[in-house]
Amino acid sequence: MSTPGTATRPKLVRTRDGMVAERESARSEGLSVGFVPTMGFLHEGHLSLAREAARRCDRVVMSVFVNPIQFGSSSDLESYPKDEARDLNLAASAGVDTVYAPDVEDVYPDGFATRVAVSGITEVLCGDPGSRSPAHFEGVTTVVAKLFNLVDPDLAFFGAKDAQQAAVVRRMVRDLDFRTEIVVMPTVREKDGLAMSSRNARLRPADRERATAIHRSLQETREVSSEVDLSTGLDAGRALLEAAGVDVEYFEARDLESFGPVEALTGKPVLVAVAAEVGGVRLIDNIVLDERTNETDDQHGQSVPPEEAR
Ligand code: AMP
Repeated sequence: MSTPGTATRPKLVRTRDGMVAERESARSEGLSVGFVPTMGFLHEGHLSLAREAARRCDRVVMSVFVNPIQFGSSSDLESYPKDEARDLNLAASAGVDTVYAPDVEDVYPDGFATRVAVSGITEVLCGDPGSRSPAHFEGVTTVVAKLFNLVDPDLAFFGAKDAQQAAVVRRMVRDLDFRTEIVVMPTVREKDGLAMSSRNARLRPADRERATAIHRSLQETREVSSEVDLSTGLDAGRALLEAAGVDVEYFEARDLESFGPVEALTGKPVLVAVAAEVGGVRLIDNIVLDERTNETDDQHGQSVPPEEAR
């Protein structure tokens, strides 16, 4: 983080009209725009996206908006951590020029009636019809479509931690002819392996310790899958989580393109994704197994559906 005074605070924009004015100013000056959509309570994962945006684009816009329509439970929505002053300082340190932080009424005014929905790949894992928020991805694509129209970014940056989200947004961009290129960045982790997440702040100390089992379970799956086979590897990962007292929502291997189930490693990269609840906090994580290299992408910056999968 920069010391106070070394980074200019980003311009804070609250309204749709204000964001349109920003967009038009960048357009008239011929500047490229990088966009980082977030729900705030920023951490190093978000900042890694912003830094990459600043490296690749003339202007960086970050949205900070806790999008109510992507939450399945109102208690999860209400307990989502917030600290705007801190976010503005951190955003400044990562080279963000504009923070768009609208009120819910500005994004969803009375009478708002439209949804943008991607089918197929949204109906598994975090969008499973039996899950607690089956309309999660519809909420994500609706808000991202609106934000892309308002910001009109050249590049938009997403994290591999939310691999399914990145794939869904990519599909929407392709299907609806948005001009924005989607860039997916590796998962940033704490020293003990826990994937950074705004929700980690809600973990009580014992649960914070327990949550480290999530990353360990994925590593266990990688190891056992390479030594035995994928199905034994998945069982070993699940067992490790259960032994740690973590409630598993899903722990599955999926094809990175179709998100269809995968039974065995065949040399194609395979996403192993987990969602789990620790002390009432829902956390997700994933790794990519590739039989040829037997390495996770998050160590090598490739933890993403490959570009050619678009
Ligand atoms: P969120 O505020 O959780 O909606 O996340 C905003 C963006 O930051 C999404 O594209 C996430 O995938 C990304 N992100 C969240 N956590 C991490 C992380 N640990 N490493 C990299 N990117 C992340």
